[in-house]
Amino acid sequence: MKKLNPNCIFCKIIKREIPCSKIYEDEKILAFLDIQPVHEGHCLIIPKEHSETILDTKDKYLQAMILTSKKIAKPIMEATKSDGFNIHINTKRAAGQLVDHVHIHIIPRFKEDGLKLWAQLPYQEGKMQEITNKIKSLL
Ligand code: AMP
Ligand code: ZN
Repeated sequence: MKKLNPNCIFCKIIKREIPCSKIYEDEKILAFLDIQPVHEGHCLIIPKEHSETILDTKDKYLQAMILTSKKIAKPIMEATKSDGFNIHINTKRAAGQLVDHVHIHIIPRFKEDGLKLWAQLPYQEGKMQEITNKIKSLL
């Protein structure tokens, strides 16, 4: 039995209590259009079992999410005549996660659309090795 959360908006979409513009569905996955797209065709892919982030999502659902991304990305590009796409996962509020049901965003991109996702800076002397060692020690 797949677990759903009665207070979760995406679980309500899975239960058809809230409508969605469905793109694709199978036993594990539902994919639908984001109601407030970055660009038209912006799509969300969710597992049909509630979990908050990739950290508490079962591997079989994570696999299905990324494989579904692969399946629908090309049709999204063709339908929107876009030149590329971003696959994006926001995890926790600090990273912009607003809905606490894990989801992949597929965002169509266009040449010179000017969208900047983040700014990058070089490391200060010694910091790169320090953080590498710290992360590896925690694996
Ligand atoms: P995130 O900020 O990564 O949690 O993204 C949540 C996304 O869900 C946002 O892009 C919202 O526009 C989208 N969203 C929220 N409610 C709905 C809904 N009822 N149908 C479709 N998309 C939704
Ligand atoms: Zn949910």
